[in-house]
Amino acid sequence: MLKLMTPGPTQVLESVRLARSRVTGNPDLDLDFLEFYRETCQLISKLLGTQNETLILSGEGILGLEAACATLTQPGDRVLVLDNGLFGKGFADFVSIYGGEPVLYTADYRETLDPVALEEFLKEDHDFAYATLVHCDTPSGMKNHIDVLCPLLKQYGILTVVDSVAAMFGEPVEVDAWQIDLLCGGSQKAVSAPPGLSFVTISDQAWKVMKNRKTPVAAFYANLLIFATYYEDKWFPYTIPISDIYGLRAALDAIAADPQMTARHQTIAAACRRALQEGGLSLWQNSGFCATVTAFQIPQEVDGNQLLDLVGKNFGVQLAGSFGDFAEKVIRIGHMGANANIPDMTLTMLALDRSLRQLGIPLACSLEDAFRRNLP
Ligand SMILES: *Cc1c(COP(=O)(O)O)cnc(C)c1O
Repeated sequence: MLKLMTPGPTQVLESVRLARSRVTGNPDLDLDFLEFYRETCQLISKLLGTQNETLILSGEGILGLEAACATLTQPGDRVLVLDNGLFGKGFADFVSIYGGEPVLYTADYRETLDPVALEEFLKEDHDFAYATLVHCDTPSGMKNHIDVLCPLLKQYGILTVVDSVAAMFGEPVEVDAWQIDLLCGGSQKAVSAPPGLSFVTISDQAWKVMKNRKTPVAAFYANLLIFATYYEDKWFPYTIPISDIYGLRAALDAIAADPQMTARHQTIAAACRRALQEGGLSLWQNSGFCATVTAFQIPQEVDGNQLLDLVGKNFGVQLAGSFGDFAEKVIRIGHMGANANIPDMTLTMLALDRSLRQLGIPLACSLEDAFRRNLP
């Protein structure tokens, strides 16, 4: 098995793997499990700086995004879709599927969203039921400043739905301070549990809008309202994947015990970017560099798949290309969660260095030396 250095799924800690092997009961009849599930939800809320309720859904990251849109969207709703990346744009599909009218606000895919430009737009048009935005748009490594954008949207009375699947716990998140109504996360990115779970934090205002909607939600699995009274009823809407929850809890406990986690992501990401640039490679973006993933441009002379193959075969490291508009253009290093450690990053930089040279690309310095030199 190659060492995962991809922007999700990520390496899984041993404590998480072991927790997943625990004996399992019947989640609907075992009241201890009901408490365990709720405490795990409460831990997520605490780690994300919110009093809001969190629900853990049994489906990988995408389910949370779809569930947020399915439950909030009422037929005919205008929804503002902030688009400077593939996941950003992808929200429009969920809005349409559930009968809304997505209004795309499309910006430069190499720049972080500019709050000043968005405000100019909002002055003219702010009649939206909610807005969707992506914290880290992983296919290009684009970070958006949700700490500024969400409060701005709320000034205009617009509810906010944020995909932070690939950012949370690698980038700081303060749900209450930043006025995020629905924040979506997943198990397989910086959380460093295997894929399989998503979770959503839900503000009181969002609950109110969802509960007062005039038409039923056109989904079951993607309907957040089916969880509205699970705790009082002592009954889950469907059988919860117990082992996944045990694993997630172990991963969250590790995050809670690691106060340096986001700081470590920042220093590793900064050293990675500087090393690549000092070596003579070009980063994909001009702004909005995320602490969880770095995307660099594949040199013109190189076949990206060949580079990925060499890095895997010769060094046992799995990096990722990208897809959509970025396919064949960028390679991505996922330094998130358990991947974000100095030994694995040094190996990754060494593997890239040797493999690029083997493909005839001259580098201005040793990538692994430059990486280490740029660490604090
Ligand atoms: C990984 C990811 C998701 C989850 O979906 P996948 O099925 O892994 O593609 C959602 N949003 C973002 C920004 C992600 O990086």
